[in-house]
Amino acid sequence: MNINFYMPTRAIMAEECIHKSSELIKIYGKKAIIVTGVSSAKSCGALQDVTDVLSNMEIQYCIYDKIKSNPTISSAYEGAEYAKANQADFVIGIGGGSPMDAAKAIALLAAQDIKEEDLFSSKYENLALPIILIPTTAGTGSEVTPYAILTNDKKMTKTSLSTPLLFPKLALLDAKYTKDLPLTVTINTALDAMSHAIEGMLTVRSSDISDNIALESIKQIAMCLKTITYGKNHSSASHLAFAIREKLLYASMMAGIVIAHTGTTAVHSMGYNLTYFKNIDHGRANALLLPSFLRFVSKSDPVIVKKILFTMGMESMDEFEALFLGLLDGSENITEKELERYATIAIQAKNIKNSRIVPNKEDIIKIYTRSLQIKY
Ligand code: NAP
Ligand code: FE
Repeated sequence: MNINFYMPTRAIMAEECIHKSSELIKIYGKKAIIVTGVSSAKSCGALQDVTDVLSNMEIQYCIYDKIKSNPTISSAYEGAEYAKANQADFVIGIGGGSPMDAAKAIALLAAQDIKEEDLFSSKYENLALPIILIPTTAGTGSEVTPYAILTNDKKMTKTSLSTPLLFPKLALLDAKYTKDLPLTVTINTALDAMSHAIEGMLTVRSSDISDNIALESIKQIAMCLKTITYGKNHSSASHLAFAIREKLLYASMMAGIVIAHTGTTAVHSMGYNLTYFKNIDHGRANALLLPSFLRFVSKSDPVIVKKILFTMGMESMDEFEALFLGLLDGSENITEKELERYATIAIQAKNIKNSRIVPNKEDIIKIYTRSLQIKY
């Protein structure tokens, strides 16, 4: 056996865990920069809980609430300038993957000067502000990963900033913040988490530990997807029980632990193009591609695909595909010109070679073609 498992983030999941963790929060500094999206951190109550706890402990804070979905490199640099101007000595990120990733990049850029051309070089000084993350979607697992995915306009795609410096010190998970997540965001983020767990098993870096965590995550998400599908067909899916919300949050954190070790595969590299050029949500982009990628893998490695299907209580790829199609309500159009362009970009991404079964450009075109509606 050959295992190298590093997970330095303390993850606490409990109702009211922000209030219960004040003593843990206190050790990270005297002034926090709180990084959020535009509105949901306020509407879900997480921002109020954080500011209440900080005020009770007489810790100062400033709020940077400008992060949009798929955060840009410039938003990270701007946030870091704001952190420096306010002399923040630790970072609290609240939100979905977008504000959490921005918070991580801000923590790195506020602690050291990195030129934009060196941002993805992984050659940094051993410095970053301590990071505390509070997820309000159940999907990215960013609260336990060493990655921050930034929109990279120079390369016309999304690029992963990856360094152990980005592992949060503390992840605080309270499913109450996800209770009013719209149905579409619930589905897209759950399928992103499912994609992380499945892709993790299909990488060259998977291990017995990551596979077992992945299988537990897949099993839990599959059970939740059944409930969501039932609710969707009976127009009641937006009122998911708290137990389901909590299970989704737990499973997405586990899927995050998986990719923290394994990274992702061609599905994510291909999905970034759908997000960058077609503005398709991250989770939806992966979910559109995953069934065809699994079919591609099953030609060379049917055993692993059977294991995944069995864990989901399924017998065939047809069943898997039908579940995804039902949740996604169809797929988007793509032209032949777009296909060629996206495949050219995707094939250059690092995660292509991280896949155990490496697709070539022709395979990538086939997977896109099978996953989307070709428009002539
Ligand atoms: P997101 O872009 O963070 O948020 C999507 C939408 O959901 C936003 O409109 C947001 O509103 C809203 N929202 C968030 N929490 C809510 C709540 N509790 N109630 C109601 N609305 C809420 O989406 P995401 O799918 O969580 O994150 C996607 C990003 O994460 C992508 O950039 C992706 O590349 C990245 N990602 C990172 C990792 C990693 O390991 N670092 C892994 C996978 C994906 P506001 O804008 O108002 O907040
Ligand atoms: Fe993802």
